[in-house]
Amino acid sequence: CGIIGVLGNHEVSPILVEALKRLEYRGYDSAGIATVNGGHLDRRRAVGKLVNLSDTLVHDPLPGKSGIGHTRWATHGAPTVSNAHPHQAGCVAVVHNGIIENFKELRDELAAHGIRFVTETDTETVALLCEFYMRDGTSAAEAARKTVARLEGAFALAFLFDGEEDLLIAARKGSPLAVGHGEGEMYVGSDAIALAPLTDQITYLEEGDFVVLTRNSHEIRDAKGNIANREKRQIKLEN
Ligand code: GLU
Repeated sequence: CGIIGVLGNHEVSPILVEALKRLEYRGYDSAGIATVNGGHLDRRRAVGKLVNLSDTLVHDPLPGKSGIGHTRWATHGAPTVSNAHPHQAGCVAVVHNGIIENFKELRDELAAHGIRFVTETDTETVALLCEFYMRDGTSAAEAARKTVARLEGAFALAFLFDGEEDLLIAARKGSPLAVGHGEGEMYVGSDAIALAPLTDQITYLEEGDFVVLTRNSHEIRDAKGNIANREKRQIKLEN
């Protein structure tokens, strides 16, 4: 029910967990984070309160300066560790808020290619489809764009890729998502509240927007695929 993504210059795990705490007010049943570290994508997930995720991270730390995080309010599949986000398929990790209405069709299509599912969620389909598109050498950004174009329903999504420490991709349709601008850092979050400790420079994504972020750049495209100039605002939040 909440999304955070950070391309940072510091260890990102505590930053992600802190941002997820700020999204707690939306409600959730499980939580998780993924990072890319030394080119390697990895994740930690836990059912229940965020303190359970924090405890997991104490015993099993997750280093890295690029990461995504998620608080889940289960719609498809029970609140288990396996169904918790981020979902990973090979080199792709995804966090998702909302519902992918056509996930069964997409799942059947992927199954016809021999692709196996390990969770009960609609979200896993997104990771699997993106990974499938990358198999022929399609770039991460293009594969994510093709994936998002196939999705029906309401969603906010953030993608992180193995081997890509300076790439974060996000998209929204029906669920809110904001880009945060830092000093040589870039963020995405469900709202400005999540991003408040990181930055007050916010660009709200509009319906159908697709954004490719690096630490020093952001390229937003609208639903038609055209470059979109969205206003960057200074947001003042009372703490
Ligand atoms: N539909 C997804 C799931 O059940 C995402 C739910 C959410 O918005 O947290 O895992």
